[in-house]
Formats: sequence, C-alpha cells, structure tokens
Amino acid sequence: MTLRKYVAGNWKMHGTASDLVEIGAIAAGSATHAGVDSALCLPATLIDRAVRSVPNFPFGGQDVHQDDKGAHTGCISAAMLIDAGASIVIVGHSERRMEQCESDAMVKAKAEAGLKAGLSVILCIGESLEVREAGAALMTVQAQLDASLPDTADGAKLAIAYEPIWAIGTGKVASPTDIGEMHDALRQRLIAKYGDAGNGVRILYGGSVNASNAEEIFAVDNVDGALVGGASLAAEKFLPIVAAAASN
Ligand code: PEP
Repeated sequence: MTLRKYVAGNWKMHGTASDLVEIGAIAAGSATHAGVDSALCLPATLIDRAVRSVPNFPFGGQDVHQDDKGAHTGCISAAMLIDAGASIVIVGHSERRMEQCESDAMVKAKAEAGLKAGLSVILCIGESLEVREAGAALMTVQAQLDASLPDTADGAKLAIAYEPIWAIGTGKVASPTDIGEMHDALRQRLIAKYGDAGNGVRILYGGSVNASNAEEIFAVDNVDGALVGGASLAAEKFLPIVAAAASN
C-alpha cells in the first residue's frame, strides 16, 4: 500500500517572531508539492503567530500533557495546542524521553490525549547506539512501539517516527537496509495492533535527513516520509527534502 508522503519539521527549541518570514517561505515552497503532506512542529509560543501569518499550512506542537487540565506547571494541554491553531503534536521524542524522563506509558497517554482532542499525532521511537551495537535494535524498538501505541487509532491521524537516537543531529544516517528492516518490522507490529488500519499509519524516518540523502531514504519500502530536525529550520534545506518526497 502506497501512502501519501509526509514530511514534518521539528523546530525543537528554535524560533521566535523573527522566523515568521522563513516559516512563510517553507509553507509557500511546500505548497508547490501538492502530493506531499508537509508540516512544521514549532515551539508552542510561536504556533499562534505562525497560524495567523500562514493560515493554510499545518502547524504542530512538540509535546502535550496527558491530562485535559490541572496543576501541571509549564505543561500544555491538547486543548491549548488546538486553541493556538495547531493540528498536530509530536509525542515521545527521544530528547523528551531522556531529558524529561518520559516513559512509554506516559508517551502512550500523551498520544491518546492528542488523538482524543482531534490532533494528529507523530509518535517517536528509536534505539540508542549501545542497543544498536548490541544487536538489539529491532527487539528494543518493537517493544517500545508496543508499549507506546494508543489503544485505538485512526490510521490517518497517527504517524510513527522511527528515529535512531545516534542519528539525531549527528550527521549519521541509518543504512537503507537497516531502515527497511526496522520499518517492515514496525508495519507488522502496527497491523498486529490495529488490523488493516495498521497499513494506513505512516512510518516516518528521522535522523539527519537532508537534501542529499532524502531520495535514497524515501525509496525504502514502508518509509512514508520523514521527521526532520536541523534541516527544517531553513526553506533552502527543507524544501529539497519535500521535493524528494514528491518525486518518489
Ligand atoms: C529530530 O530531532 O527529530 C531529528 C530528526 O533531528 P535531525 O534531523 O536534526 O537529526
């Protein structure tokens, strides 16, 4: 089954009002590739202004609290993201799993909160270098997926981002063979969990995707797009990745 490619940028802790021009350039350039779904996941403080400045482009947040509201200082609920104009949220990014000690159970609860509120969710999983070198990457990431997946999901609203931790922001990229093996295994887990709907969940690759490697990565079976960090901050770096997705 061929799914529409999805290229989402993760701006992490980058971006202020002075970047709205760049965001506009990314949105305008992405719109020229109608066959690809593009999006930017921004710092929460920038979402509202980005939506006002580029109303027809999908923006997302980078985390959501699992509760609807309450005494959670510094956290953001799904309703708040929607109120700011977001339609997407990333959950379980390895930086949050490590820096904020997020467990699989928390990531699952966050994914469920996002979906329940009507957001599309990009759920991240991936192994460390130690795990990869120990030959345990497949087993570890499949277990992480099983424990992080929401109990029910509309395939069109959920995407998985396989992001080997050692490839994030390092310039190192997993080989097409390793990516293919992992994405095939993840597809099987998604089908085991959701039945045929598992075929509709897009599986993105993330980890140092750029203009030079995107085409090769998008050609791998079961790679339905990319989650892009560093190369999503500038139109001149992001748009060639969207173009590679469009030509695949
Ligand atoms: C990410 O943080 O999700 C990511 C993939 O980053 P980069 O593209 O910079 O490796």
